Amino acid sequence: MTTIRQNLQTLQNELNGSKARLVAVSKYHTADAINEAYACGQRIFGESHVQELCAKQLALPADIQWHFIGHLQTNKVKYIASFISLIHSVDTLKLLKEIDRQAEKASRTIDCLLQIHIAEEETKFGFTPLDVTQMLDEGQWRELKHTRIVGLMCIATNTDDSSRIQKEFRTVHQLFETLKQKYFEGTNQFCELSMGMSDDYPIALGEGSTLIRIGSRIFGERIYDNHC
Ligand SMILES: *Cc1c(COP(=O)(O)O)cnc(C)c1O
Repeated sequence: MTTIRQNLQTLQNELNGSKARLVAVSKYHTADAINEAYACGQRIFGESHVQELCAKQLALPADIQWHFIGHLQTNKVKYIASFISLIHSVDTLKLLKEIDRQAEKASRTIDCLLQIHIAEEETKFGFTPLDVTQMLDEGQWRELKHTRIVGLMCIATNTDDSSRIQKEFRTVHQLFETLKQKYFEGTNQFCELSMGMSDDYPIALGEGSTLIRIGSRIFGERIYDNHC
């Protein structure tokens, strides 16, 4: 049995009985590695660079559901709009509008998560809880007919302090419940909470994550990881 297969099986066993789904984060990993995971039944893969994603999408099986998890520049949305199945990292209304515009051109509706900035300094991207509430209050997003906001995503602080990580996930889950009630009542559209990576996914699952984004725990260390 290959390591990728073993790693996937371990994760799938841990997810057994939970509603959460696994996003296999394949950024910086080869098409061969992805094919190996695909052969084990994995269908959702996460990438964070547009160029790399487009090359892989062309080369790999058509029934893969590609998720975009990195910072997305508005001028690059057009390259992924025809096939992307979920964008985890919407961090401005401007980006959401551009996704909507490109989705319309591609005659599709694109599902999106709003990224919440919760960690101390892991990333500068994401809405603060206040910003996201203001954006939803203001209401322009309701006019966008080719995007659907289906939930929230966050990246916790990279720390050994698990109580702090737990607090961050809990805060985002509470925000999720509040927004769901206030803006999405009577629909089941707002249902995804993307939280948890290789080092903190057990905590995220305990705090209600529905999508865990796991890279190194499946594929091993990334070959190169500094061109973000
Ligand atoms: C790279 C990345 C992951 C996966 O990280 P691992 O620690 O390798 O599991 C998850 N989410 C985002 C946003 C990433 O950029």
